This record gives sequence, structure tokens and C-alpha cells, in this order.
Amino acid sequence: AADGAAAADPALARRLANVGAAAVLFYDAPIQMVAGEGAWMIAADGSRYLDFYNNVPSVGHTHPAVVAAVQDQIARLNINSRYLSPVVDDYLEALKAKLPADLSNIVLTCSGSEANDLAMRVAARASGGTGFVVTRNAYHGNTAAVTEISPSAFKRGAPADHVAQVPEPDPALFGTADGAGLAEGFAAAVRQAIAELAARGHRPAALVCDSIFSSDGVHADPPGFLAPAVAAMREAGGLFIADEVQPGFARTGDHFWGFGRHGLSPDIVTMGKPMGNGFPMAGMAARPDLVAAFCEDVGYFNTFGANPVAAAAGHAVLRVIAEEGLQANAATVGAHLMSRLRDMAARDRRISAVRGAGLFIGVDLEHDGAPAPDLATAVINGLKREHVLIGAAGRFGHTLKVRPPLCLGPDEADIFADALERVLAKT
Ligand code: PMP
Repeated sequence: AADGAAAADPALARRLANVGAAAVLFYDAPIQMVAGEGAWMIAADGSRYLDFYNNVPSVGHTHPAVVAAVQDQIARLNINSRYLSPVVDDYLEALKAKLPADLSNIVLTCSGSEANDLAMRVAARASGGTGFVVTRNAYHGNTAAVTEISPSAFKRGAPADHVAQVPEPDPALFGTADGAGLAEGFAAAVRQAIAELAARGHRPAALVCDSIFSSDGVHADPPGFLAPAVAAMREAGGLFIADEVQPGFARTGDHFWGFGRHGLSPDIVTMGKPMGNGFPMAGMAARPDLVAAFCEDVGYFNTFGANPVAAAAGHAVLRVIAEEGLQANAATVGAHLMSRLRDMAARDRRISAVRGAGLFIGVDLEHDGAPAPDLATAVINGLKREHVLIGAAGRFGHTLKVRPPLCLGPDEADIFADALERVLAKT
């Protein structure tokens, strides 16, 4: 399909010629985007697309406050973190105010992958273990070490010896449909994974979870279900790393971080994507004793991590979330969206589940009781024709990942829901 599309589209042909097999693109006929505003993107032909996929420009595409903060700081000075800068420390203090008090050391990086790579090393040093437990469709990033704990990125080959996988925390797999038994079932799976690691000669270093289980298909309920699994890992001497790259920064509505939903206090928190609203920045927050122990063994320096332009962008994002009440907006508009989707599910048996928290919702599509990735693909392409952008996730790729910017209005939620309804009627 790509060959045919490339022949028809010179812009696509150029990209494929320049990047080759490493090109990762949306849609067989990718769209050329030239501008953005709020929840919308504008294509080269001038048409507007509603962005329901992108959780990077989380406070809205080209938010003026973030743009101004970046422009102002880059016009003054951009430099590495070996110099002192109140811009950086003001930001770190504002970020720490959003985190559990004991996670008082923050190492800024440039990508979520780097943050998770560092978190793995810090956890291994603190625990003395080498093993990691992750969900079977997890994605945590792209370094060599992090790819090993990212089963969703594998195309072939056996998983690494020091990584054990557990099923996604789907109530359909554990306990009962209403979520009772999920907490205990998921914890039992983690205990079994720890035993598998032991049999292969690995003591556990950490349980690493995206606390909304995004690439596993979005699993949020019942709140608190993650706590017994974390306790099981800690009993075995390992740590809990909360990967907040997807759920962090107010997306889940009720809490600023995804782990808040589970009443947890992680040993290490990693974050990225929405942190700079598109300015590349990420980070790892941990207890000072963990950072100190790690730094006894090895120096860690990141040339671009903690640069003042990133700090200015990150600080502007925190201010906008607070000033525009985006966490509350994620809760209210998310609840409205969820009720529209549940209403649709009640009328269309192909929608077998609607789950999530705030503006992070997963919609399972089935056909005759079986996961229907083909239907998900058809819906994604149908929504593209309606100028709504959305992606899929989950073990079978049959879960629509509903993840619009946090500035979404109820009218925009309705535009999406109406378009989905039209597309499903036609599909
Ligand atoms: N963790 C999660 C949960 C992610 O979704 C991603 C990116 N999709 C990463 C980590 C890696 O972040 P980055 O692409 O910034 O390296």
C-alpha cells in the first residue's frame, strides 16, 4: 500500500527516500500538517483536523503562553545544566510541588526513553536486582535496555531473560467483569513473574507500569487495583517505577498523575510527552537516597536535559494547566465523552467495552464476540475522512485510543462522538 501511495504523493515519496524502513507514519496516505491551534491541526490544503490522538501538545497546539516562554528564553540563553539557572530551579520546585514529597530529586532528560533507561539503572542499583516485570503489551521507549521491557515494540525474537511479562490488567482476564478480583489477580501474576525471574537467576529490580496501561488498551478501573501488585514487588525486594509519560500532567482528571488513582507512592516516577507541550523534554523523579546510590557508581550527564528553554516550556505548561483548570476540564469533558461512548455501546454490540479516566479512554471493538482490529482500522480511516485523528492500541489492536488535548471543549467531544457514530453506521 505504501508503494502505491508514495507514487501518488511526492511528499510521501520524499520521506520514504530520506528515512527508509525506519519511517513511522500515520495512515497509508499520511497527511502533511502545517499548523495547529487548540485541539485542531491544519493540513497543507488548508483543511482542519480534530486531534484525538496526540497527548504531546496537551494544553493545546501552539499554546501562546508556552510559545512565548520558549521564545523569550531562547532569545536570552540556552545552555547545559553545568551552570546555575533560576529558570531551571524555579521549574523543578514547581514540578516537585506536584509530586509526592519524598521524590525530591529530579533528573531532566530529553525523552521518555532516556528517563526510563535511567530509572531502570537506578532501580537495579538500589535493589541489587537485575529483573524487570512489565505488562505484555507495554511500551516504555527506544533505548536498547528499554526496548527489552517494551514487548509491544518486538517484531520477532524471544524476550530477554531478565524480563518477565504479565497480562494487561483487563477485568475480562482477571476476576469478574465489574473489576472485583482484578487487584488480587494482577498481584498474583506479578508474583508468578517474580518466580519466573528467580528460576532464570534474576532477582527483581522493579515493576515498571504505565499507570494507565495505554499500549495495553487503557486500564484504569477499579481505582487502587495496582496497589497489591506493587506491594508484591516490594516484598520481593524490587521497586515500583511509575511511567507517567502517558497519563501524567492532569490527563486522567481526578489526579495529576496516573498513580494517584491507585493511592500509590512510587519509588521512581518517569515523565515526558506532554511535559513541554511539544518542546522535547522528559525526566525522572526519585528519592534522594536512590539517586545518591546510583551516582556513587556512575556519572550521569545529559547535554540537553535541564536546559533553561525546556525549563521555561515546562514551567509554562504547569502554569497553563493550573490557570485554565485543565485537570478539572479533563474530568468533566472526559465524563461527557465517556457517557456518549457508553450510550453508543449500549446501541452497538460491536463496542464491547468503554474504559478509562478523564481524557484517556479506550474503546474495544469486536465482531461476533472476537477482537476486531480490522474494524478498528476501518474506523480510524473512516474518522480520518471525517477529519478526526485517532489511533488504536491493545493486545489485538482493536482498542480505539481516545486521547485528545486537555483543552478539549464539550462541543469538540461531540464532534468526535458524532463522527464516530456516522463512521460506525457506515462500516
Ligand atoms: N513510556 C511510555 C508509556 C510511552 O508511551 C513512551 C512513548 N510512546 C515512552 C515511554 C517513550 O518516550 P519517548 O518517545 O519520549 O522516548
